[in-house]
Amino acid sequence: MCVILGHRKTRRTGLLTKMVSDRYDDFTDAREALIAEIEAEVVETRGFLGIDRIDSKVFQAMRAVPREDFVPESVRDLAYVNRPLAIGHGQTISQPFIVAAMTNALALSPSDRVLEIGTGCGYQTAVLAHLARHVYTVEVIERLAQSARARLTAQGYGNIDFRVGDGWLGWAEHAPYDAIIVTAAAPEQPAALLDQLAEGGRMIVPIGPTGGAQRLTRIEKRPGGELHSSGFLPVAFVPLIKSR
Ligand code: SAH
Repeated sequence: MCVILGHRKTRRTGLLTKMVSDRYDDFTDAREALIAEIEAEVVETRGFLGIDRIDSKVFQAMRAVPREDFVPESVRDLAYVNRPLAIGHGQTISQPFIVAAMTNALALSPSDRVLEIGTGCGYQTAVLAHLARHVYTVEVIERLAQSARARLTAQGYGNIDFRVGDGWLGWAEHAPYDAIIVTAAAPEQPAALLDQLAEGGRMIVPIGPTGGAQRLTRIEKRPGGELHSSGFLPVAFVPLIKSR
């Protein structure tokens, strides 16, 4: 999951829900309305994010990914409401604002190879696949991994590799990665992932206890291997499960 904490929930959400269910058949306008809402939220939260705007390439990628195809049929009408939604197995698809903020913080180049921990329904995976050369994604719940793989393969993505396993261990075989994104909360910085980050690489990970104070944290590995980390947003994510 996740949702941003510590700022007001907008009135727009309820309105947008109604608009989506009443008026939109193909979701194009709903997607644009959501992007406008995220842009406004970035301005509202700039004290946390330290930025005034999301890179337009991130929004281009989000425009290209049909979020309605990643959520259960029963909540399809809510696909463009700016909030997380349940996807089964006790997991959620992240709030679109968070997807935009995390993706933006990775500062991806088209030549980058990215490791994602927590495939979930595969929505964030798809957004990354539009911006990077290759995405390696690891999911601990086998059935989620299988359905994300089937969905993204059917949608024609050819630059994603999937793995079922414990993301705490990363995916050493393809390391080092230019960027690493963790979409579940870790109580501390995951050591194996730091090892697998390239020099010059960026990692974004929510750090903090389950149900407690978590911060979206950006860690940079400078040339020479020195790590610089900064927490920039209070959030609430599902936990990064430890299998051992
Ligand atoms: N990226 C998703 C968000 C998924 S929610 C999106 O686009 O919306 C977090 C995901 O992390 C869940 O699917 C959960 O099963 C997975 N997860 C939790 N612990 C994990 C671990 N140790 N290794 C890999 N995946 C894990």
